[in-house]
Amino acid sequence: MKQWERPFGRSKPETVKGEVKIVEDRCKGCGFCVEYCPCDVLELSDKFNKKGYHPPYAEKLEECTACKLCEMICPDFAIFVIEKEEEID
Ligand code: SF4
Ligand code: SF4
Repeated sequence: MKQWERPFGRSKPETVKGEVKIVEDRCKGCGFCVEYCPCDVLELSDKFNKKGYHPPYAEKLEECTACKLCEMICPDFAIFVIEKEEEID
């Protein structure tokens, strides 16, 4: 009897991953994106932008699910997310 590789012969499930883009000089370092990211992807960096604030960076980019909450919550349109599809191993 043939064993199915997956239930009902379905292909591997796919999950959406995100690529975070930060326009550093627009950021005012409020930390909303860092605080509200449900996956703890972001951290504020130690460096300064042109305005003298600490912009965020993606500390754990592999955890990003492209939910785009950071993009929606940023008051200065300084962060946006591009979706990329990846298969789960
Ligand atoms: S898209 Fe969602 S998971 Fe990814 S960094 Fe933004 S808030 Fe976090
Ligand atoms: S929410 Fe926007 S302005 Fe605030 S720290 Fe994040 S990127 Fe900067």
